[in-house]
Amino acid sequence: MYDVIIIGAGVVGCSTAYWLSQYEMSIAILETHNDVANGTTKANSGCMHAGYDPQPGSLMAKYNVEGSLMAKELCEKLDVPYNNDGSLVLAYNQQDVQTLQELYQRGIQNGVKELYILDEKETRKLEPLLSEKVVGSLYAKTSAIIDPWRYTIALVEVAVENGVDLKLSNEVKAITKENDVFTVTTSKGQYKCRYIINAAGVYSDIVHEMIGEKEFTIIPVRGQYFLLDKSEGEKVHLTLFQCPSKYGKGVAVCPTVHGNMIVGPDAETIQFEDLATTSEVLNYIKERSALTMDCINFKENIRNFAGVRARSDRQDFIIEESKSVKNFYNLAGMASPGLTAACAIGYHVIDWLNTKEKFVKKENYQETRKKVHFKDLSFEEKNEMIAKNPAYGRIICRCEQVTEGEILDCFNSPIPPQSIDGIKRRTNAGMGRCQGGFCGEKVAMILKEKLNIEFNEILLDKEGSNILMNKAKEGDY
Ligand SMILES: Cc1cc2nc3c(=O)[nH]c(=O)nc-3n(C[C@H](O)[C@H](O)[C@H](O)COP(=O)(O)OP(=O)(O)OC[C@H]3O[C@@H](n4cnc5c(N)ncnc54)[C@H](O)[C@@H]3O)c2cc1C
Repeated sequence: MYDVIIIGAGVVGCSTAYWLSQYEMSIAILETHNDVANGTTKANSGCMHAGYDPQPGSLMAKYNVEGSLMAKELCEKLDVPYNNDGSLVLAYNQQDVQTLQELYQRGIQNGVKELYILDEKETRKLEPLLSEKVVGSLYAKTSAIIDPWRYTIALVEVAVENGVDLKLSNEVKAITKENDVFTVTTSKGQYKCRYIINAAGVYSDIVHEMIGEKEFTIIPVRGQYFLLDKSEGEKVHLTLFQCPSKYGKGVAVCPTVHGNMIVGPDAETIQFEDLATTSEVLNYIKERSALTMDCINFKENIRNFAGVRARSDRQDFIIEESKSVKNFYNLAGMASPGLTAACAIGYHVIDWLNTKEKFVKKENYQETRKKVHFKDLSFEEKNEMIAKNPAYGRIICRCEQVTEGEILDCFNSPIPPQSIDGIKRRTNAGMGRCQGGFCGEKVAMILKEKLNIEFNEILLDKEGSNILMNKAKEGDY
């Protein structure tokens, strides 16, 4: 029997596992998919928001600001990229300038440091290629960007090193409780525990209602994006938001930690977790982005994607013990700024558990993680690595300069990849301009060999995403 079961291996569940794994307790994470960070955590803007946006006094405001303050040190410990580029909210007229003042005051009330209202000249000095329509901005110096996948994988890798059982491909189907012990039935088996942390993202209301009464509803809100090549990434230096207006929050133009540009998202209420992109919305995003920068070359688009926000009917995060089920905690309604807030939310879960019984800190636990980033090494360091292991001398992904050695390394990590995209999320292979056009086959062959599977078992990503279905003729696929 486990002390704690966490349902959902997105950034919220994995952050919770990271912090709880420092305590003397047995923990399992149950996740539907064959990898972590494969829900909403997979598709967002990657912005660690400063915290001027949420309403003062809300849970969003509290955990956003705390998370933003914690993230830099945590990313350093986890050896994942973190760029403190700052962000601008852009004003296009005098009414917007008024709104910037309101956001500024909200930020001050929320405890955000280093916020500045800039005039047009000061704004253009920070971001020279802005459209002529921009008349001023709110500059948040503490805003940053991260890679949400790497961050989440790193959090859970450390948790697993500290003894957490990560059970992938285990969709929770039913939950019962008898004598203070929960029985959680998944697609793979049954697990018992004394506490449940529900971090099931878009499905967190459904998971809660497997045992509890209806206490909240999750409304899925989809957002679509353009991902542009690094040639466009050079045009943008800060995360650029548009001033919220009667037309909504506008679309953002953002750099990524890997040097690309992303443009989006919109906000569309949908019925279920549907990750399709549509030409109608993408055209809207393209049009709206011109307010921010009218020099974006959308011919450099290398991928489109969508993510689904888990917005709650309370318009705030839901971070509380279930009212109808004792020892069942909901970490739900994690719409934006959930990525930013996740590390702070996970950090505080122990406070709630410790009101029930005293869990003590382990004498020894791991907090950090280190990876090889071959392309960032000096010439001498590269030669040294290749002399020790010739696989570092073979480039598999030309666009992102990822070596065979780095891909093989991830199979020796605490959570080996199960798919081509699993390798991409760990190493960047396939993330570049050709989107795996050149390296995809080589990556697939390494995956096949390392997992010892047949050709028709090679997955692009989730279960069922097999890249080869049947033999075209006898003998080969
Ligand atoms: C378009 C968009 C842009 C965003 N931009 C930002 C941003 O810039 N900054 C920011 O701070 N936040 C942003 N967010 C919000 C952020 O992405 C989310 O708050 C965060 O990823 C939520 O993480 P999570 O762990 O709660 O959910 P998820 O990542 O969805 O994880 C939940 C997990 O639970 C699993 N699960 C569900 N049901 C079950 C079950 N029955 N059994 C087992 N497992 C189950 C799912 O498979 C999933 O892996 C954005 C979101 C979107 C959609």
